[in-house]
Amino acid sequence: MGGTKILAAAINSKEGIIARVKMPTPAHAKPGVLIKALAGVVNETIAEAGLKVSNIKAVALGIPGSLNPYTGRVGLAPNLGLKNFFIKDQLEKLVNIPVLIENDVNLGALGVKEFGVGKNKKNILVVFVGTGIGGALIFDGKIYRGSSFAAGEIGHIVVDKNGFKCGCGNYGCFETVASRLAIVRNIHSDIKAKKKTIITKITGKNKPIKSKALAAAVKANDKVVVKRISDACDVIGTTLASLTNLLNVDEVVVGGGLIEALGQFMTPKIRASFKDNILAETAKAAKLVQSKLGDDAALYGGIVLTEEFLGIKV
Ligand SMILES: [Zn+2]
Repeated sequence: MGGTKILAAAINSKEGIIARVKMPTPAHAKPGVLIKALAGVVNETIAEAGLKVSNIKAVALGIPGSLNPYTGRVGLAPNLGLKNFFIKDQLEKLVNIPVLIENDVNLGALGVKEFGVGKNKKNILVVFVGTGIGGALIFDGKIYRGSSFAAGEIGHIVVDKNGFKCGCGNYGCFETVASRLAIVRNIHSDIKAKKKTIITKITGKNKPIKSKALAAAVKANDKVVVKRISDACDVIGTTLASLTNLLNVDEVVVGGGLIEALGQFMTPKIRASFKDNILAETAKAAKLVQSKLGDDAALYGGIVLTEEFLGIKV
């Protein structure tokens, strides 16, 4: 469940995705409305797959925010307007299936680990670059949730303390420098400074600049866009190298909306600056690769979460 869309699938490890359902997230909805929408998506997905409620082992729900997967309570999910909300209990009442919750980036990382480029790897750092920047850590094959279930907040590592203010209140967080929103903000300042770019032609005047438009501008070798994205890649690479020097993982996985749209351009650039900044001994173990699962990573992660919490094979 994201701030703009809910993506659901009936899935198991043998057959993969059996059916999928996608719907927009109700905008500015009260928690009760959100829960009803979720229950609707669950029932629709079961029907679409030609299954019965009794065939379903669990509903695994990814949420963009802080939460406790053991109590089923969402601490804060700003994009959904949820705060201190026991979403697991509420949804279970409506669907009559065990509900499991996990942070969306962690859930995606679990999918990457079992079904994607992280297969057979032991220690993985996963980074999703999109509107913001999310991270997750896998140590010894298990997700590392941290002491208060808040580990992996790579987007809020301060990389430029004289930089722009972040949504978290700090200045110069990684995501204020290298996320899609940061890149777009920088492009807008270039437009204001009358630098030549075709980006406004691609999107239309005063329209939001999305990943696809950025990809089209890069393809046309637009100097402003190429420069701003290249600068972001440099910061992403150096930040991932620093973290890899600390963690000595065997794989760094990059993914997310921006990388999906621009991976061919971005991943080699990120890898180059990663290699420039990583210690020789750490570099022996660590490979930087791009996720191939896209949004499906979190869907596959649902299998892994269910197996972990219910102790069953799915
Ligand atoms: Zn921040």
